[in-house]
Amino acid sequence: MTNAGRAHVLIVEDEPVTRSKLAAQLTAEGFLVSEAGDARDMRTIVSRSVPDVVLLDINLPDESGLILARDLRAKSSVGIILVTARQDETDRIVGLELGADDYVTKPFNPRELAVRVRNLIRRVAPSMAAERQASGVFGFAGWRLDCDARQLISPAGESVRLTRGEFDVLAALARNPGRALTRDQLLDLTQHDGEAVIDRTIDVLVGRLRRKIEADPKHPAIILTVHGIGYRLASG
Ligand code: CA
Repeated sequence: MTNAGRAHVLIVEDEPVTRSKLAAQLTAEGFLVSEAGDARDMRTIVSRSVPDVVLLDINLPDESGLILARDLRAKSSVGIILVTARQDETDRIVGLELGADDYVTKPFNPRELAVRVRNLIRRVAPSMAAERQASGVFGFAGWRLDCDARQLISPAGESVRLTRGEFDVLAALARNPGRALTRDQLLDLTQHDGEAVIDRTIDVLVGRLRRKIEADPKHPAIILTVHGIGYRLASG
């Protein structure tokens, strides 16, 4: 979770009306929201980027939400909130045993749900950050930088092409969220054999990165200039 708490919540729900209502509410609460209509969609989204919290409907058309909860928990400490019908008491208990963190019962109060999501994000944030760091995946402002796959994924889930130099500068900043790095440090962290690099290179690379990732490259909100020092990545 980074940048003003724009945590990523994945809603897994096969009823389109319920799903879009939930998505609208959580988006209004400031979360970055993805939606999956079944288990297959969920697996695709999670393989691209592990969210901070999954809202998981137990009754899905293709697989049981309980199995999904178990599989998610086996792979990560992502927050899991089961969404159940009132009569699903046994499933709820099994779900909690399989590693879900919390549950809500339909019909739920949207404001209460938002509070539960926020509390759970706070609880899982340290372990999620550690897992992402270990896996070389960094998040900022809804973006995900995967250092192993050398891939940058936009908040909309699209892959954005970066040159090697651009990627290395962004990775150096992402590994040090909120910390200002000097141009010298950035040069050291992005130096490749046999390449002549000068201070100015960093400014050029940052300029190109900003044009690719900033909503308004003239007034950057992600890669910030620290006057007299260098650059830093905005952090929550
Ligand atoms: Ca359902």
